[in-house]
Parts: sequence; C-alpha cells; structure tokens
Amino acid sequence: MYVWGGVLVVTEVLPGIFQIKVPLPNSPLKELNTYLLKGKDKHLLVDTGFNMERCKQALLAGLREAGAALKDLDFFLTHVHADHSALIYNLVNDESVVYFSAQDAEVLNEAVNPRYSLRIDKILLKNGFQKPLRPLAASQRFFDKNRELNFYLLNDGDNISVGDYNFTCLLTPGHSPGHMCLYEEEKKFILSGDHVLADMTPNITIWLGKKDPLGEYLHSLEQMKKLPVVLALPGHRSLITDFEYRISELQLHHKNRLNEVESILQAGSKTAYEVASFMKWDLKNISWEEFPVMQRRFATLEALAHLEYLFLRQKVDKKKIKETIFYCRC
Ligand SMILES: [Zn+2]
Repeated sequence: MYVWGGVLVVTEVLPGIFQIKVPLPNSPLKELNTYLLKGKDKHLLVDTGFNMERCKQALLAGLREAGAALKDLDFFLTHVHADHSALIYNLVNDESVVYFSAQDAEVLNEAVNPRYSLRIDKILLKNGFQKPLRPLAASQRFFDKNRELNFYLLNDGDNISVGDYNFTCLLTPGHSPGHMCLYEEEKKFILSGDHVLADMTPNITIWLGKKDPLGEYLHSLEQMKKLPVVLALPGHRSLITDFEYRISELQLHHKNRLNEVESILQAGSKTAYEVASFMKWDLKNISWEEFPVMQRRFATLEALAHLEYLFLRQKVDKKKIKETIFYCRC
C-alpha cells in the first residue's frame, strides 16, 4: 500500500484495475484518479497528471506499488485538459501507444498555440470582462510544446482490449469537444473521465469553433444514461455506484442553472460577466470582486455556455453595443 500525506493512493478497484491518485498542486481539484489496467504484455494507463515532477513521482511510485513498469505502458487520455493529459510528454517512449480522441487531439494542437488563448481573451473582453485578465494561458505551461506526439486517434465506437476487458470508446463531448469514456459492456462498468463526477459538477465552458458545448454535454449525458452501468471510475474523487441517478442530478443542476440565468436577465440586459457575478458559486465567504481572476474567467465562460444554450433555443436574445455583447430576455 502506497500513501502520501496519509492518503491511500493505490487501490485495486476491480480485478487488474488499479486506481492511482496523483496530486494536482495548486489546483482546487487536489488530485487526479489515474487508472492502471494490467494486460499480458502491455498495460494501459488512463490519464496522467500535470507535467510536473511531483505528479510524475507520485505516479511512478503508484505504478511500482501496482507492479507495473513505465516502459510497459500504453496510454489513453480521456480528454485534453492539462491535469489529465500534460504529463504524457514525460512518460512516453518509442514503443508506447497513446490513444486519444481525434477531436481533442485537434484541440490540443490548437491550444498550444499562444493565439488560442488570445482568442479566448477576446471572447471574455467582448462579454464584459475587464482588463487585466490574468497572466496568459496558465495551463499551457503544463504542455511540452517542443515535443511532437503521434497519437493513435480514436473515433466513437472504436475498441480497445486490455487483459480480460474489452472496451468501447464512447465520444462524450461537452466538458471538452472530444471527451471520451471507456465502456466495458459485458462487465457493466465505465471509466468516465470528467464526464460524470460524483462530488462535483464538471465545468462546461466555451470552446473555439464549438457553438453549443452545454447542448452537447446534455445530449451525451442523456446517451450515457441508457447504458447499464454498475460502477463508474471517474477522473476525480469518489467512485460512482449510482451512475444513472448521478446523471439525473447533473441534468437537474444544469436545468436549475439555466433557470437561474434566465431569471437574472429578468432585471434587464447583462453581459455574461455580469450574469456570472449574480450566479451562485462556492465563493467561500468572499465577494465576487475578491474571487481570483482565474475563477472569474471559469465562471464567466460557464455563464456564457449557459447563455449561448438559451440563445440557440430562442430563450434569450443578445445584442452588441459598441464592442460589448449583452444578453436579454427581450
Ligand atoms: Zn479533470
């Protein structure tokens, strides 16, 4: 048993499947659940951690504890976010296969370009955010831009077998454009990444070139709900034994959020930034103005995802005054 900070970090959650917890320094998420799936010749590691030495050391210790060597690993990345994908650059060798959805591989290629975050900043400024925004692209420093990786690109419905398990790759867009889950149909369990989490609501934000991320998320949640699942292995926090019920809770959360956004606009037109400032967040007794810039960015982009969902369904309208976009119930 390997522990750091008194916390058990390696657990065999199913026969031949080890959950290895990797710390996420300076992240409110605190840690990532990676999963080692042991095979005959090669093993599969699902998700990796930030590209930081502390993450790598914790992961290597976990692998040792689970009896696997780094050189024998192939990798599967559930999605593009740095806490799941960025350490990959520090783990691969010439023999490793890195499975990744074709859609998120494309996002990764765009996101490492500094112009990507400038375009996101532009969206924020148009939606009421005031300068200074923050030091640019905090998450990008976690990627190793100097190293090209050849991904094995996956599409919805592709199959991966490891040990006694046969997985179907399920495209579940929303949290990221190409988020993927691994579903074991016969044994009725799923590696759910950040699509369905037990103790927190996956953040739904705006992506360049994607019109309706919340609509896509709600659609893929509905698809997931139809699957017989007795256990979900998520990317953070606790395992999920009531998958269908948890999905219903997430659906209800967004329904309430959409109602909240609509009622905020009842008092008059507002920018996405202003709408976000009126929404309920876990602010830990600090005011919206004291909320760190990064958190305000996330909140505004999340408000925007909800506003655009409503706009596309003709529930709210928007107008541009000078360079700023205002949403209204007009
Ligand atoms: Zn995550």
